[in-house]
Amino acid sequence: MPIEHDLAVGKINCCQVCGSTNLQLVVDLGHQAPCDSLLWKHQLDEPEKTYPLRFLVCEDCSLGQIDYAVAPEELFFPDYPYRSGITATLVDKLSKTAVSTLTRFKFPENTLVMDIGSNDGTVLSAFKERGMRVLGVEATNIAKIANENGIETLQAFFNEELATKVRKSHGAAGAICATNVFAHVAGLGSIMRGVSELLEYGGVFVTESHYLLDLLNTVQYDSIYHEHLRYYTLKSLIALFDQYNFTVTDVERIDNYGGSIRVFAVKGVGHPVSAAVRDLLKEEEEAGLYGMEVYREFANKLLNARRDLLALVIQAHTEGKKVVGIGCPGRASTLMNFTGLAPDLVPYIAEQSTSLKLDLYLPGLHVPIIDEKKMLDEQPDYAIMLSWHYAKPITAKLREKGLQSKVILPLPEVKISDF
Ligand SMILES: [Zn+2]
Repeated sequence: MPIEHDLAVGKINCCQVCGSTNLQLVVDLGHQAPCDSLLWKHQLDEPEKTYPLRFLVCEDCSLGQIDYAVAPEELFFPDYPYRSGITATLVDKLSKTAVSTLTRFKFPENTLVMDIGSNDGTVLSAFKERGMRVLGVEATNIAKIANENGIETLQAFFNEELATKVRKSHGAAGAICATNVFAHVAGLGSIMRGVSELLEYGGVFVTESHYLLDLLNTVQYDSIYHEHLRYYTLKSLIALFDQYNFTVTDVERIDNYGGSIRVFAVKGVGHPVSAAVRDLLKEEEEAGLYGMEVYREFANKLLNARRDLLALVIQAHTEGKKVVGIGCPGRASTLMNFTGLAPDLVPYIAEQSTSLKLDLYLPGLHVPIIDEKKMLDEQPDYAIMLSWHYAKPITAKLREKGLQSKVILPLPEVKISDF
């Protein structure tokens, strides 16, 4: 019997890819609010919904996963405050998806390329510049920004039904991308069937997902949140694509979001497979991803890091020093709430002046997000780098603007940065 990949809302009882019930609990991060459900001031007196946040791993296919699916409309609401074009580093990284794909696959000019969760159209504009016809699918209001910038974008969730419509209106696609959304969707089965429907035979599905090996190596427990349902290994992705008659032909590790993998899955079985696929499977096995010990070590490291961070912040306060946060990616919510950094310890998080998150509050402990100008005026003694996976470029930029505070790196282990 085929495995049901379209998750119902609520508790998940078996592996999201292979259906096994051999799931091991790695760490329980408690009940938390969805990390991007930032609040306006007037919402602070209202009750907040929280959900279990437990991280598990499948002993059979080695998929990391959480075991509770929050309703998508509660996670990806129309005002979702994330826009990919906003940091120059990210724009640069996203355009590499196009370069990497077009180097491997020689499409004729005007081949249709689609992007699922296309955000402001950053990925697609790189394909368009290289002669492809493009179409984005984006559920949030950011779709409007994409359309204004000349990237045709449907404001919708991608699913089987939409795929059938697009096939009729736009024809078959040569490539479909899903960058950093493939781990987030609850309707995985519907997406896989939709992609299969839309791609021509031999067409490629390019996914980029946060990579479990990098997550473990650098103790990125803060990237565990409800939006992020699955934490892929290559082995688990192959197990998934097999079930839909795709061949994983190539893979590369990329540094997006603190370590990701870009996987090329070609429609149809038996396509030639690159050495990179075999090599990475071997590396996963050697790193211990198919056993349990490496996950126990990860849990110990994250609990130590949390305790050390809290101790350092409390020590600073005891000495009369001021500590703030820098940068508010989604992951900041997991880290701040799990560590217990309330506004008495960290009175605000500084974000760049162009951020859509300014004047909002973190869910849970209600730390306000404010313009970094305040931090630059105040020069607090310490600033916790919450976007620690981009610590160097962000710190360099802030130093140029005159920041003198000591910068605390919260993970993989707590330390004061030397930059
Ligand atoms: Zn599994």
